[in-house]
Amino acid sequence: MSTTHRPVVRRCVSCAHLKDRTRMLRLVRLADGKIGLGQGFGRSAYVCRSQRCLEDARRRKRVQKSLRIPNHPTIDATLAAELDNPASDNGKPVQDSPVE
Ligand SMILES: [Zn+2]
Repeated sequence: MSTTHRPVVRRCVSCAHLKDRTRMLRLVRLADGKIGLGQGFGRSAYVCRSQRCLEDARRRKRVQKSLRIPNHPTIDATLAAELDNPASDNGKPVQDSPVE
């Protein structure tokens, strides 16, 4: 194990800010065309876990554009589910399953 932990940042498809990826929602376009959440290999899009970014991403179909899949119902449903059950973006760490 390395002694220095380097935070991995990703760009939000909504606000374009760089943030620690562990605090972001990750959607992945899997090889079979399905949408993965949190892990999996493939083209991925990140959204801040904030009401504003999730809403904006959903309304403007930013995830769909980023993943180059214009009509994918799972993406909209996933963002809607996150909006219904928002994780805190105010300092409380969100624990995702590790990707590495
Ligand atoms: Zn954002």
